[in-house]
Formats: sequence, structure tokens, C-alpha cells
Amino acid sequence: MRDLIIRTFVLLVATASITAIFVNPVNNSSAMNVNTEDNPLLAKWEGPYGGIPPFDRVQIALFKPALEAAMAEQLAETEKIANNPAPPDFQNTIAALERSGQTLSRVGTIYGVWGATMASPEYQVVQREMAPRLAAFSDQITQNAALFKRIETIYNSPAKAKLTPEEQRVTWLYYTNFVRSGARLDADAKKRLSQINQQLAGLFTKFSQNVLAEETDQFLVLKSEDELAGLPQSLRDAAAAAAETKKQPGMWVIMNTRSSIDPFLTYSDRRDLREKAWRMFVNRGDNGDEHDNNAIITEILQLRAERAKLLGYATHAHWRLENAMAKTPEKAMELMEAVWKPAVARVHEEVADMQALADKEGVKIKIEPWDYRYYMEKVRKAKYDLDQNEVKPYLQLEKLREGIFWVAGELFNFNFTPVTNVPVAHPDIRVWEVTDKTTKKHIGLWYFDPYARAGKRSGAWMNAYRTQERLNGNITTIVSNNANFVKGKPGEPVLISWDDATTMFHEFGHALHGLNSNVTYPSVAGTAVARDYVEFPSQLLEHWLATPEVLQRFALHYQTGKPIPQPLVDKITRSATFNQGFATVEYLSAALVDMKLHLAGDRKIDPDTFERETLEQLGMPKEIVMRHRTPQFLHIFGGDSYSAGYYSYLWSDVLTADAFGAFVEGKGPYDRAVAERLRKYVFSVGNTVDPAEAYRAFRGRDPKIDALMKKRGFAPKS
Ligand SMILES: [Zn+2]
Repeated sequence: MRDLIIRTFVLLVATASITAIFVNPVNNSSAMNVNTEDNPLLAKWEGPYGGIPPFDRVQIALFKPALEAAMAEQLAETEKIANNPAPPDFQNTIAALERSGQTLSRVGTIYGVWGATMASPEYQVVQREMAPRLAAFSDQITQNAALFKRIETIYNSPAKAKLTPEEQRVTWLYYTNFVRSGARLDADAKKRLSQINQQLAGLFTKFSQNVLAEETDQFLVLKSEDELAGLPQSLRDAAAAAAETKKQPGMWVIMNTRSSIDPFLTYSDRRDLREKAWRMFVNRGDNGDEHDNNAIITEILQLRAERAKLLGYATHAHWRLENAMAKTPEKAMELMEAVWKPAVARVHEEVADMQALADKEGVKIKIEPWDYRYYMEKVRKAKYDLDQNEVKPYLQLEKLREGIFWVAGELFNFNFTPVTNVPVAHPDIRVWEVTDKTTKKHIGLWYFDPYARAGKRSGAWMNAYRTQERLNGNITTIVSNNANFVKGKPGEPVLISWDDATTMFHEFGHALHGLNSNVTYPSVAGTAVARDYVEFPSQLLEHWLATPEVLQRFALHYQTGKPIPQPLVDKITRSATFNQGFATVEYLSAALVDMKLHLAGDRKIDPDTFERETLEQLGMPKEIVMRHRTPQFLHIFGGDSYSAGYYSYLWSDVLTADAFGAFVEGKGPYDRAVAERLRKYVFSVGNTVDPAEAYRAFRGRDPKIDALMKKRGFAPKS
């Protein structure tokens, strides 16, 4: 899915999930024989804008000693807070914790950026070693009994009522996160919890590296013109370029990643090759070889179930959702089930349309999953006279970037200026300074890393390199947007699809959530909100792409410079709910399987059987496969954070659709008064306010599901 937000080290304590075996970073690091004084990763960030990350000084060999030294420093800081002879109060405990760990936060940020965008085999070795150790470190803090005692005392003290609302919220967060991480358990249970966490950290890393291996090692080689039938020129060029990297000179290669497979399935006239590509893609992690993930999944699920029980929760899902906006798995299931039936009904209509078209063509086939995208495109052309390739020439990457800047100017009064005095991890990355249009005040930095390269994970995401806060002075934020566009030839504009343009607006929505942050405490800043609330600002921003103001100014033909013609825009608008059956069922089937896996308790689960039986019970249309099948479902098995949480996109979309209604009911998408309410109650508050309250303050009422059903075309026709 577009979207994982990468949270590096912000809220490390709050999200504490992993480990155990006692680790002594100090001893380890001295054994490593490294002089930490010379390690540039440990230094304070220097230079303009309150300091900038030293991406130009990174060497893989520096990561391990830097992480070790930074962990040791934070442990020492934590010990000092825990053993303070003064009675506990907010300042000497909670605020002190908020001030601690700054070195680890800086080192962890750069380590995380490398993991997501520059992960060489050499880096992966460090990652395998450090994942369980970072988890162990986290547990060492949340299991510190003296520290928890202080937090608990402050939480239960009548003096708490005198704190600011933000301070009370931060106190609650610390308290609840410590409890949820096992702070109240006895020594034996704590030990077992740590073992589980450490085992899980190792399994997550193995799961992720297995998927990466199958995406890298497997690919489809096309050998002749005949095998390229139907593919547009841009796809042929990309396949030829991929063949070079895979050492298949003179051939064409379709990589085993979504960005290569989806377009191939959409355009290839060769049904046999579509089936081959589809099977390769949906079987990642499920091939019975050394990269098979099935046994790992069984183990992860059992460990999670055991951990939930240990912590006093019915299931892993109940534990995960407690502090989400949904609060309980039942609430999340209720929403998913309400949308599931109409979505499946729509799929049957879509398949009937496709079948009719295939029959008319005289092709004697029954629509199979590898036919869906192909015939969907043909139906789109037949029904709406809309050819995706006709839209692309108007969607230039750099023009759209100017478009998102313009929207940020209209909604939030932001101005973007390119800067070159800032080091970057790769020459393709560019940086802009964000200022207030009126006051010229510095707001933050925005890094843009748009192109695919080896070692960069697929998809698109936002990352915060530094969060806004006022506890340590007036600290401004640094955010980035990352994508995997194929870099064009020098001087040629990069043309992207409508879907990719939507993703650009989405990720920029996350960036604006970070840039608008206006809080005091770092752990509640920007995008550090509940998992099922965080996609709300980003999905909301997607709506601005299709506004005439953006299209007229920025959707310009790359050769003529003329704006996209109105009839073509009308076709796009008319087809907005086209194929929503497929998109919703593909996503929702994965979200339902995720939730049911994590509601199943501690019985031993065979992933293949569970997936098959669950989908049968749901009445999954056989022409569609889950967007992420269980053996490759990185969201839920690459870590804990999206586990029992894939429903979040739908949950957030209820808010999104309902919130855009506020603009529609007002003066339209650029209504200043509504935008100001949005900034005040949603984009600027981070996690200082309960999300349900924040939403109510913005909208004047609770969200309703009606707008979502209408947006997806599932509302009853009146
Ligand atoms: Zn997102």
C-alpha cells in the first residue's frame, strides 16, 4: 500500500516491543575497539536550520559503535532519572525523559534512513545483529522498576491536574505505554516477555529479508517482440533497463515488485505470461524454499498470543487496539464488515462487465485473477473512453511537485525554497526550506528522494528526521518524502500515472502533518499519533490533486505546455468510482485476514490453511487475491506496528471522506476558514489531544460513514 510511515526512533520507549537477553552496550562497545569521540554519527547536528543530519559522513562501519554508544548514553540518563533522590514530579521525571536519548534519536534517524533507502548487503548484516539488541534496550527502559514507580506516582498524584493539558496527555502516554510494555509484571514474567520480544525482533528481520530476497532473485525474462505484445513504450524501456541490471543483455526483465508487476498485468496481451508473472508475485515467501515464510509466521503468531496473555489481554489484537482510535477489534471489524458486502457485490458487477467484453471479443476464457487488471483497463476505455496513457503526458513529476507546494501555500501559507547547502545521502535527493509566506519565519526542511535505486525499499513513504518541539529550545522539524519513480534520461521530464500523482499528494499530506506541528513535547509531535488516525491527514490531501486550480496550473503537457483538457478531466472525474470493488476487496480481504489472525489466540496456525478457510468464509471473489498474501505481508510480519492494524487505512478513510465534506459544504477545497480549522485541530496538534476529540473540534460532530460509501460508489443509488 502507499504509505507506511517510517517512524525511526521517535517514541522508542512508547512503542517498545522487543526483547531480552541482557545486553551491556558499554562492554560490547569497548570490545569493539572503537573510538566514539571520532564517530561523526554521535556528534550534535551542526550547520544551518538548527543543525542538519550529516548524511555526507556516513560509513556502514560507524553504525554499530554509534548505536552502542548512544544506547549506553540513554541508559545512563534513564538510570539517573530513576535514581533521583528528589521526590518524583513531572519536571524531574517525565520532562527529563523527554529530554533524554537525543543522541540515539539522531543516530537512529540516520540508521533508519540507510535501512530504507541505502540497504546494501553490508548494511543488512548490521541490521540482523542490531534489531534484537535495540529491542532489548527498549525493554531495559520499560522494565526499570524504579523508573516506572516514579511515572506511576506522578500519574496518580493530585498535582497532575495542575499540569497543562499537553503535559497531562504526555504523562498518560508514558504511564500507559509502560504498563502496556509489562512494567507491572513480576520478574519472571518480565524475563519471559523480554525473551519473546527478542525472538520476535529476529523473526521480523528474517521475514523481511526473505521477501526482499524473493523480490530480488526472481524475475520474468521476456525474450522477443512477441512476448512484449501490448506493453506501452515506457514499460518496454523500464524492462530493458531492468534487464541490464539483471545481466540479461538484449532482453527485457519484469521485476518481482508491485511497481513492475501491476503495469505488466494491466497491459500484456500474453495471457500465459500474465499468469506466470502473477504466480511469481503472489507466491513470494510461499515457495517451500529457504526463503519460505510460513513457519516464521506460525512462530510470530504464537509468540504474539503468548505475549498478549502475559500482559493481560485476550488477544494480540486487543492489546494493539487499546490506544487506537477504534479502541477494540470489534469496532474495527464492524466497520470492515459494513464495507465488505457492498464491495463484493460491486466486484461481481465488475467481473460481469469484463466477462461480457471478453465474450464480445470472442476470447473463450473465464476471468481469472491474472486477467483482472487487463480487462479492467479495457472496460475503462469502453465505458469512460479513458486511456491511462492519454493522461500521463500531463503528469510531470516536477510540475506536480510545484503543485503540492502551491496547495501547501493556499491551505497553510507555506513557501518552499530550494536549498543546496545541505548534505544528502544520495545525489538524487533534493532539499527545500519551508517558511511562512507572510512572516518569512523558518518552519522546517523538506527532503525529496523520488527515484528507485538498489537497496531502497519499494513503495512511497514519509519520514521525520527531526520532530518539532519546544522543550529543548525552538526546534524545527525536518521531514522527507520518498518514492520509487524510474529516473528519466537527462533533460527529459519524468511522467507519472494518475495513481502515482495521488500517492505524491498522499505522502506530502504526511509531510504537512509534520511541518504544521506546534507542540512542546517531542513524543507527541507531528505524525506520532494513533495508527488508525495517522492516514487521515495524508488521505485527505489526495483530494486536492483533482481540483481545477491544481490541474489548470500544474497538469501541463510535457511537450506543448498546455493544461490537461477539460473533457479528459471530466472523464477522470466520471470514472472516479470505477473499479472500487476491486480496490476495496483487494485491500479489505488483507485487512480482515490480518485482524482474524490476531484474534485467533494461541492455537497453532498454518498460514496457508488459515488464509484459504478465512477467505472462503468471507465469500472472497475468486477473481481477486489479497493485496498482501500472508507469506509476504510485511505490514504485519515485518514488525509489530501495523499488526492487527491494516484496517487503519479504511478507518482513516472514513474520517478523510467525511472531513473533505467540510470543504464541500463550505466554499470549496480552498476555503480559508475550513483550512484554518484543519490546521488548528488536526495538522498542528500531534498527539496532544485524543483523536476523536480533535476530529469533533474540527467537524463539529463525530465522523459518519456515508461520505466514504459515496466516495467509493457503494452508497445506495437514489
Ligand atoms: Zn500514508
